[in-house]
Amino acid sequence: MSKPKRKRKNRHSSEDGMDETPRLEKTEPLQLRYYGDPVLRKRAEPVQEVTYEEVKLADDMLKTLYFTEVGIGLAATQVGVLKRFLIVDIREEEEDETGLFMLFNPEILNSDGEDIAEEGCLSIPDLREDVKRPEKIVVRAIDLQNQSLEFEADGLLARVLQHEIDHLNGTLFIDRISGIKRQLLSDELKKLQKADRPT
Ligand code: ZN
Repeated sequence: MSKPKRKRKNRHSSEDGMDETPRLEKTEPLQLRYYGDPVLRKRAEPVQEVTYEEVKLADDMLKTLYFTEVGIGLAATQVGVLKRFLIVDIREEEEDETGLFMLFNPEILNSDGEDIAEEGCLSIPDLREDVKRPEKIVVRAIDLQNQSLEFEADGLLARVLQHEIDHLNGTLFIDRISGIKRQLLSDELKKLQKADRPT
């Protein structure tokens, strides 16, 4: 998910600026997949165990997320990897202790309430729309250390998690906006589908 109003302080520009992530070899941002790419409509597969390969994916995806400057969430599907893995970083400052989540096999166990807020997606640039979603969720997942965890989320965190979990099921936020609005957007979406993207 993207949020254009906030910019982080050049986190991606420094090779040493990622101490909160697993330190592996040098990583490069991955190629983002854009609307129209069939991979975005595929269902991702659960991860059996978090191994070196998964930790490397997490590291590469975090770098990819920071590279966008506006991203606050990224699902593996969006870099063409069909594994149930997502990253959420809603921290305002790099030093903040909470707000960074790297979750394998995330599941929503419970949801409650209703909330409407604007969403954007790194895979659908320049399009932002109001989306209605449950306000509170309970999530179960596996972390980078292979530990199972369960927590409650609301507000922005709940929204980003739901947006990213949708990606793992091949669902995009535009699927969740009303029929009439989507009708109005259809020309714009067709243009996006045909657009040439940087590689
Ligand atoms: Zn998205």
